[in-house]
Amino acid sequence: MPDNASTVWWASAAIDDAGSPWEKFRAIVHRTGFLDRMDDGDNVAIKVHMSELGNIRGIRPMWVRYVADMIREAGGQPFVTDTTTLYRRGRVTLQKYLDTAARHGFSPQTMGCPVIIADGFGNAGTYVTQDAKRYKRVPVAQAIYEADALVNLAHPTLHPSFPIAAAIKNIGMGCTTKEAKIRMHAQMAAPKYNADRCIGCWVCVNLCPGGAFEPAGKVVRFNEDDCIGCGECIAVCRGGALNPRWDADSGETQLWTIEATRATLSTFADGKVVHLAIGTDFTAGCDCGENSLPIVTDLGLFGSNDPAALDRACWDRLHEVDLYPGGLLDQIARDPEKSAGLDLSSDRASAIYDAVEPERFWTELLPESGLGTGEYRLEPVGK
Ligand code: SF4
Ligand code: SF4
Repeated sequence: MPDNASTVWWASAAIDDAGSPWEKFRAIVHRTGFLDRMDDGDNVAIKVHMSELGNIRGIRPMWVRYVADMIREAGGQPFVTDTTTLYRRGRVTLQKYLDTAARHGFSPQTMGCPVIIADGFGNAGTYVTQDAKRYKRVPVAQAIYEADALVNLAHPTLHPSFPIAAAIKNIGMGCTTKEAKIRMHAQMAAPKYNADRCIGCWVCVNLCPGGAFEPAGKVVRFNEDDCIGCGECIAVCRGGALNPRWDADSGETQLWTIEATRATLSTFADGKVVHLAIGTDFTAGCDCGENSLPIVTDLGLFGSNDPAALDRACWDRLHEVDLYPGGLLDQIARDPEKSAGLDLSSDRASAIYDAVEPERFWTELLPESGLGTGEYRLEPVGK
């Protein structure tokens, strides 16, 4: 174990000799030392993904309330927060997000503290400049920028652009404005157009901020050079003619996101951030969409002061737990044709998403990014 390895505290989500999930999670939070590092009256952002409409597998609100209570007991002033999305569904505006959040159980009444959409109507942020290879001027969502401390409360899943969507993605994409999300998605957000499926509804013609579509007979002509990569047409296309480029190089999206994470973390004083993860309901898709059955059994509960270490621990645990019966990985494993050439013991992400390249992420992109190496030592926690 290298000297620079960070500690990741971990507990099973089962009720066992070590205690109940609640007791073990409380112990994890205390072990990180975050509550001791808080000052009385600190405004503490609890960053959480409150789930896209229709997603029944997101983080359960009781975990978030539990964290809010711990912060209040320790003298802090918590607020639950997230940012609006690029795509036009249930979280695209402040009003829509608050409505979706309430439907999913996240409201001031249930959380016992304010629920704040950190980028306001969608663009409220402050630019943070940094020395970085790519992302040198990052718009961090205003309420997060102004907070004194941050609890990064992630719900790990797979994702089309990352080996695992956990602590790093929850900050890099989740704590920044729409403008930043455009930058991070630019590699894949320009749509792949299939004219055979176009029904000539002209929704994209009227919507596209780049003016990339024009009517051409019964379908549209797509002028890709005019696309600015906002991704909005993909969400609204009525014919299913516009789709993400899932085969694009995810490495660029990963790098821009890691650098956005670094910029966001730099707005907090030393020790004022903690990273937690609730590894239950681990699904193939992230919480930005509907999700079917989990793909593995529970990873457990995690805490660390290092987001890269926490993500790596979640990744490793993903390969230790059993496949969820009937879930997508289980279906793949049972199908000789689909599972041919796959090694589900070491890379379960590439079995579903071709372009995520986990080996490159962990050994090349992450270590070069300045966010950390992902090296960690796991400390099991009881109550
Ligand atoms: S992704 Fe490109 S083509 Fe689609 S709406 Fe945005 S700018 Fe227009
Ligand atoms: S939104 Fe889709 S179906 Fe409608 S015109 Fe554009 S490409 Fe065609």
